[in-house]
Amino acid sequence: MGLLTIGAFARAARLSPKALRLYDSLGLLVPARVDPVTGYRLYAPEQLEQARLVAWLRRIGMPLALITRVCGLDAGAAAREIRVFRARAEAEAAARRDLAGFLIEHFERKDSAMTSATPPLEIRYAALSDTGLVRETNQDTAHAGSRLLAVADGFGSGGAAASAAAVEVFRRLDAGAIPAGALLNTLEDAIGSAAELVARTGTGSAPEETGTTLTAMLWTGSQLALVHIGDSRAHLLRGGELFRITHDHTAARSMVADGRITKAEAESHPQRSLLVRALARGADTTPDIRLRHAEPGDRYLLCSDGLSSVVAEGEIRRVLTAAEEPSDAVRELIALANGAGGPDNISCVVADVRERPPGA
Ligand code: MG
Repeated sequence: MGLLTIGAFARAARLSPKALRLYDSLGLLVPARVDPVTGYRLYAPEQLEQARLVAWLRRIGMPLALITRVCGLDAGAAAREIRVFRARAEAEAAARRDLAGFLIEHFERKDSAMTSATPPLEIRYAALSDTGLVRETNQDTAHAGSRLLAVADGFGSGGAAASAAAVEVFRRLDAGAIPAGALLNTLEDAIGSAAELVARTGTGSAPEETGTTLTAMLWTGSQLALVHIGDSRAHLLRGGELFRITHDHTAARSMVADGRITKAEAESHPQRSLLVRALARGADTTPDIRLRHAEPGDRYLLCSDGLSSVVAEGEIRRVLTAAEEPSDAVRELIALANGAGGPDNISCVVADVRERPPGA
């Protein structure tokens, strides 16, 4: 079979002539021959397979630059690249879904603000931070107040100042009730301010290596707004079950999400604690923000990795289930971490949601 005109080739490849001209200009799909007199592009039938592949990759929304790369790979490498693309697309969709959920809640709350029949709730809370048994200083900051729960794990030469600055920005939100309609904007502004403040705390020869994680929950009276960046964690104990409600923003976890390594491999991966998001100069400071409905009986735990990296979740669940008061729970959890060698600073915040006693 001879060369095909651009029109015939476009029909066979399920692509438009306009798209083919674009792919030619990008070097993605170059015609077999360009007529020197007319300038018409002519394609070889053997190019159909690649053209159909490009059409399929376009259909899954892959950017052209990535398609160009995939087309140059062998089958195994192409499969890996498409798997990574799929994982990213799923993560982006999940982030959009969460944010959409937050906005739905936001408007539904506005809609039903006058007719709400939920009993008044309150939180009881305790916070404790400990240097551990190996580090000389404590760079963690933990806070619990009537509206704000927060754990921040500072790193680098100005780590202690960084974690304190981040929590301080959010602590100001503890002072007064935030109108439900302003919650999302308030949280985003607070993260922005915290990131700016932290960026100014870096000292010494490598100020860009100073930063902090932040996992904070803001209590609105019936809901908890969760703001999270880094590898500190939030857990919920509900109905005797322990749920982790944050994802670590670490390189190893991203590699698991991308399908590059397994969960088991991540546990011992050299980049298991390398943060891909944090409050630090030059870092990606985009937080995960979520709104959670509180139920009486819920017990929340926020902790730094000084707890989660040495105490198994089963042990954490056991302590959270058995401890009478939040203050007992934080003390026992820190004792467990120190019992396991206390290699890092340890911070725990525990808060119980309960119905407000009549007359309170
Ligand atoms: Mg730590």
